[in-house]
Amino acid sequence: MSTIWGAPTSEILLARRRLDIDLDQVQRKILERRAAKKLEAAAIIPQSLKCYLVARDSAGSVTAGVAERSLDELPAGDVLVRAAFSSLNYKDALAAIGHQGIVKRFPHVPGIDVAGAVVASEAREFSAGDPVLVTGHDGGATRWGGWAELVRVPHEWIVPLPAGLTLREAMILGTAGLTAALCVDALQKHGLQPGSGPIVVSGATGGVGSVAVAILAKLGYRVAAVTGKTDAQDYLKRLGAAEILARAEVDDRSGRPLLSGRWAGGIDTVGGNILGTVLRSLRHGGCVAACGLAGSSELPVTVYPFILRAVTLAGIDAAWCPHASRLEAWHRLAGDWKPGNLESMAQFTTLSGLGPYISNILAGKIRGRVVVALADEL
Ligand code: NDP
Repeated sequence: MSTIWGAPTSEILLARRRLDIDLDQVQRKILERRAAKKLEAAAIIPQSLKCYLVARDSAGSVTAGVAERSLDELPAGDVLVRAAFSSLNYKDALAAIGHQGIVKRFPHVPGIDVAGAVVASEAREFSAGDPVLVTGHDGGATRWGGWAELVRVPHEWIVPLPAGLTLREAMILGTAGLTAALCVDALQKHGLQPGSGPIVVSGATGGVGSVAVAILAKLGYRVAAVTGKTDAQDYLKRLGAAEILARAEVDDRSGRPLLSGRWAGGIDTVGGNILGTVLRSLRHGGCVAACGLAGSSELPVTVYPFILRAVTLAGIDAAWCPHASRLEAWHRLAGDWKPGNLESMAQFTTLSGLGPYISNILAGKIRGRVVVALADEL
């Protein structure tokens, strides 16, 4: 018996069986290659890592320093990142001293920021070698964070390193840079343009303040920088501040519900009476983006700025901001908003050198950003 093509049925069946076998072999080869790749990757993943560990003994005393821990101790997550850089934020310093508001379980590894390369991923969105950054969420807070050579996170937290930023630059910016960008974005969404009037930035030499001053100046805003440091003039001018105000000048204790309208907008990183003074000193329709509490968590203000000057108080949270806003902010930070003077606001240290920087940031003495180098740039 033959088919309409002239080939006998037996030959067709034979060819089909051969094709099945070939396909099976191809499939098996693919699976074998995948398994080999996984084994290869597993072989190069160190089974232990150096980290900055905060521990508490049975008497309640907190100790901190560099320690070696096992890979198995890292929190759950589908992506493992080899860290190149992390950074020091105010919140990290609190975690490093075992502050109960941040650290819920000991031992703990601080570090809300990390940038590095993926070493293993169970998520199809990322592959080994991808350069990435992670900021906020629960990292360095309720779970182990970025002050470690290896960091495990859920893939949903990861931002692919945007073109235009190196891993080092990403961590000079870190959560401080993201927060500053979200603050500037809030002012722009409120309609404030460079021509709207001056913008005041408090805690101006701090991490968030420094990046905020630099972005605003780059975008053409006139920036009034408020600082408690008497020797910060040159630093702030280099970042682009047009005017520098001593902290006491923006700490009004007169009790007046409204002060003369000086600024179109503000970015406040310190809270307390300084935020109260800024709110009372905004022009009609002004807006202040409030993100910090370096001075105080209190807010002494009446409703008058809101009901007589239509002032807006915009709250900023960088830790849990939606992923789309996060991607957009990093895209800007890598592009038009990228400060030209990033290196000039950065100091570098290692895990073992963090001690003095932690004390200084808690004392409000740090200028700009502190970056923690964990490996040579990957
Ligand atoms: P830094 O410590 O780097 O900067 C804070 C700055 O505030 C200091 O450098 C100092 O600047 C000023 N300052 C310090 N103490 C006082 C005080 N007692 N009164 C008035 N001003 C003071 O911190 P960051 O820039 O990293 O963070 C700033 C704040 O923002 C922190 O409270 C932090 O927790 C918060 N934050 C919030 C985020 C969010 O998502 N909402 C994200 C990131 C940070 P100067 O000497 O120039 O006045």
